[in-house]
Amino acid sequence: MKKNSLMKPSYLLVGFSLALLLQSGSAQAAQVKSKIAAAAEKQAITAPIQQALDHISSEALRGHLSFIASDLLEGRNTPSRGLDLAAEYIAAQFRAAGLEAAGDDGYFQTADWTQIAPKPRRAANAVSGESTAKPSEAQAVQKVRNVIGILRGSDPILKDSYVLISAHYDHLGVHEGKIYTGANDDGSGTVSVIELARAFASMSVRPKRSLVFITFFGEEKGLVGSRYYGAHPVFPIAKTIAGINIEQVGRTDDSEGPQVASAGVTGFDFSEVGKILREAGLKTGIKVWKHPQNSDRFFGQSDNQALADQGIPAHTVSVAYLFPDYHSPNDTWDKIDYDNMAKVDRAIALAAWTIADSTSVPHWDANNPKAEKYLKAWDALQGKPKQ
Ligand SMILES: [Zn+2]
Repeated sequence: MKKNSLMKPSYLLVGFSLALLLQSGSAQAAQVKSKIAAAAEKQAITAPIQQALDHISSEALRGHLSFIASDLLEGRNTPSRGLDLAAEYIAAQFRAAGLEAAGDDGYFQTADWTQIAPKPRRAANAVSGESTAKPSEAQAVQKVRNVIGILRGSDPILKDSYVLISAHYDHLGVHEGKIYTGANDDGSGTVSVIELARAFASMSVRPKRSLVFITFFGEEKGLVGSRYYGAHPVFPIAKTIAGINIEQVGRTDDSEGPQVASAGVTGFDFSEVGKILREAGLKTGIKVWKHPQNSDRFFGQSDNQALADQGIPAHTVSVAYLFPDYHSPNDTWDKIDYDNMAKVDRAIALAAWTIADSTSVPHWDANNPKAEKYLKAWDALQGKPKQ
């Protein structure tokens, strides 16, 4: 940080920045809403941003995913050795990119699976049961890990606020001798987080706010990793202003028809994040849209839910909500459209930049009844009386 001796009214500046950092809630929604919407509309793709977008490479995505979704990792069940291998790989990529480690053990936020494992459901279906693991094997691996790295923001005040970019790196494991490789679900999101981290780390400039890159364990067991993060946040939840979660961005053969150069957002109009993503899509050649049924229905079906419950405007971006090999052993990495995935990731990168570089924050929509409980959680975080 450059010292600036000319900035005499520094207290004023700090006070102003602090007000920007903390402003939130329904009272200012109308005013601030237009501010961040305007910021998204006005956001130019400057040379450094273009460089970062160009850094996102379909070849790199393919390379990462060919490992993450390889048979060696045995479907990345939570907990398992395959999951641990994936965690080590992701951490190695964060390290190579130059992210600062943000876990309790390097890049790892460690949890004890025996403490947090959900109780097995009655009548579990073929792919969610634990029937193939012997009790002794299951208990042998007890540590599970979220993988977390951070790029600090450039503004002396706003760097203490955070934008999360996340995905889950676990999948369903091995059942009846078949490996559920989970390439699209959610290897695609996992490698997108890696590529976005690499792209932002390569930039000569940083956005004002800090970017936190997380891959979660245990999504397939019921959002366990993201809920663990929500309960044990590494960075204060009250200062975490938005979350973009990435799920199933690799397959374009949606069960409802091809989805090329398009991406859906869950809870599209629950908060302003949907609009910011749409603006970023317009500038990068991706139609970001609201699926009439699935947008709202799928809001609770990925890790954004755990963060939204805490009050953070957090959404999931997907290309296909459902695809032919969903939760089958045939979700393999050779079926991914890597060029399309890179384009979608560029739209996400631009949206993340816009949010992280803005002095205003995205808000829950006070006029949308479906967002009401999240807005209440957000207001509670900011110390506002419940209405
Ligand atoms: Zn998933």
